Amino acid sequence: MEECIFCKIIEGKLPCWKVYEDKSHIAFLDLYPAVKGHVLVIPKKHYAHFSQIHHKEIGNFIEAVQKVAMGVKKAMKADGINVFLNEGKAAGQIVFHAHFHIIPRYENDGINFSVGRDSYLDGEMLMMQRKLTDSI
Ligand code: AMP
Ligand code: ZN
Repeated sequence: MEECIFCKIIEGKLPCWKVYEDKSHIAFLDLYPAVKGHVLVIPKKHYAHFSQIHHKEIGNFIEAVQKVAMGVKKAMKADGINVFLNEGKAAGQIVFHAHFHIIPRYENDGINFSVGRDSYLDGEMLMMQRKLTDSI
């Protein structure tokens, strides 16, 4: 396995600003935050991709993400919160150890994660529905 900076953090070989830990997860401050209070939640076990996380572990991971997200929202007196994960380079993943971003948001904070909107031609939504339903 290539050197993984988040595994090094878990092993204590790299420092982090830890805000939460349980048996299987830790959460720590993002070193280059979108806003102050930006936190990352990671499983201690190395999975490069979200899609690889074992089905018996994913429930606990999501629970930890919810716990951390609610704690961040409360502590930061945020009006809202973004919870997201980048899966794959094309989606913006830089660190290949699965992690959720927790980002506190405020009314009119000027942050814009929104992307452009595409649209469907006649009949495309039905095709899309079938394609996705068959795959899931
Ligand atoms: P992603 O683009 O989803 O892979 O996000 C990786 C995140 O990890 C970025 O937001 C970085 O700012 C953050 N990051 C990279 N190295 C560290 C580190 N050593 N400690 C904390 N956060 C880090
Ligand atoms: Zn790792």
